Amino acid sequence: MPERDVIIVGAGFTGLIAASQLADAGFDVLLLEARSRVGGKVESTVLRNGRRVDTGGQFFCRDMPQLMALIEAHGTTPVMSYADGDTVFRPPVSPAEGLALWRQVDALRERMIATDPQDPELAGLTVAAWVERQDIPANVAQGFLRLVKGLWCRSPDEISFAYLASNDRRITNTHWELEMFLAETMHSLAERIAANLDHRLRLDARVTHVDHSPNGVTVRVEQELFSARKVILALPPTISRRLSFSPALPDALGRALAVWGAGNAIKVHVAYSRPFWRVDALNGSVMWQEPQGLYACDASHGDYPGLVVFIGGPLAEEWHEKPPSELQAFILALLADAFGPEAGQPQEVHIRDWVADPWTGGAYSDVITEFDAADAEEVLNRGAPPVYFASSELSPSFPGYIEGAIVAGKQVAARVILEFRQGGSTPWQE
Ligand SMILES: Cc1cc2nc3c(=O)[nH]c(=O)nc-3n(C[C@H](O)[C@H](O)[C@H](O)COP(=O)(O)OP(=O)(O)OC[C@H]3O[C@@H](n4cnc5c(N)ncnc54)[C@H](O)[C@@H]3O)c2cc1C
Repeated sequence: MPERDVIIVGAGFTGLIAASQLADAGFDVLLLEARSRVGGKVESTVLRNGRRVDTGGQFFCRDMPQLMALIEAHGTTPVMSYADGDTVFRPPVSPAEGLALWRQVDALRERMIATDPQDPELAGLTVAAWVERQDIPANVAQGFLRLVKGLWCRSPDEISFAYLASNDRRITNTHWELEMFLAETMHSLAERIAANLDHRLRLDARVTHVDHSPNGVTVRVEQELFSARKVILALPPTISRRLSFSPALPDALGRALAVWGAGNAIKVHVAYSRPFWRVDALNGSVMWQEPQGLYACDASHGDYPGLVVFIGGPLAEEWHEKPPSELQAFILALLADAFGPEAGQPQEVHIRDWVADPWTGGAYSDVITEFDAADAEEVLNRGAPPVYFASSELSPSFPGYIEGAIVAGKQVAARVILEFRQGGSTPWQE
């Protein structure tokens, strides 16, 4: 007899939520996490001034209902991001011109979302190839490509157009996605969820192998073996595919895991003694048309003044190869160019390079880099019971976001609970 009902691998938000839901429903669960902390792509650090900041997932908005509910349930404190004043654009244009260009880029995004997923003309196309086909001014095309690099963190000629359109259709917020963050950090929310799991969570437990049969699973962590009736791999697809399986996974699943690539992102916190940009009626945001994949915003709260700079896509890949001191000088020069010399004199700069992160992939989410892999998400969501796959990437809403991870965790837990109650396995989303 297996020792437990369900083993969940990976204590990011997907795994934490799946484990909590199953435990709350009375199932005997074990959550195995490779790192010595929970949270996955949500993590934090304490700056020299004592301020704890999120070095991974941080922001959210009111259009993300599952995350909003979780925040309320755990008593954490949302802080509104500072948004009064103008955004700075580089190369310099007036705020009105910058916003006009942004609206045109947004309209192109809407055009992408409105494409017909069944249109044979679009099959096998890259995002870059689709943009080339559009009759739009060059600066709008550049703005769109910049957005793709910044949000999906890969070069647009490496991302499947059908995938990006499908992914973006599920990102449905109407409010600014950086509208709020948590005073205590998003990572502290992950820790609060984990605290309720107590002895059912094991850290420093790196799963390498899964044996599976209709009777259950055995999961290997170094020399130790854990058995259960089912296993949920709450891992990004590029991480799941590193595990070995006996017997080997069905071909369709192996292929569905193979079509993903990790993105590349670096997140930088820049702490100052005062939010000097506000004096000039600036909101702290900078949108760079060049270099592409770069964005800054105000992340101050309470008595902490600071900016966050995101670097995504090829630019992050490039800087990953260079010393952090050079990256720091590059960022400070860009900020000084945008806000004046005071921006070049921070109290502290903290760089978190996620590129090639061994446990979560290199950015906000994995993306589909095979241009003809329309059913990969469906195949993974179906899984091969008693082996299930779940992660933010596979979520029906807000894939690649914390909200998406919560939805994915709830979805897989609901399915597993239903199957236990029915004594069999059910087709996905029944
Ligand atoms: C820099 C950065 C900024 C972001 N900003 C935002 C934001 O502002 N807002 C937002 O909504 N989202 C943001 N995101 C995205 C968001 O954080 C993720 O989409 C989400 O947290 C993914 O959760 P997950 O549980 O699906 O996967 P993950 O968080 O990747 O969790 C997977 C877990 O599995 C563990 N693991 C891996 N291999 C093994 C193994 N072999 N054995 C055991 N455990 C293993 C990993 O250590 C990890 O804990 C950001 C991400 C990053 C990196």
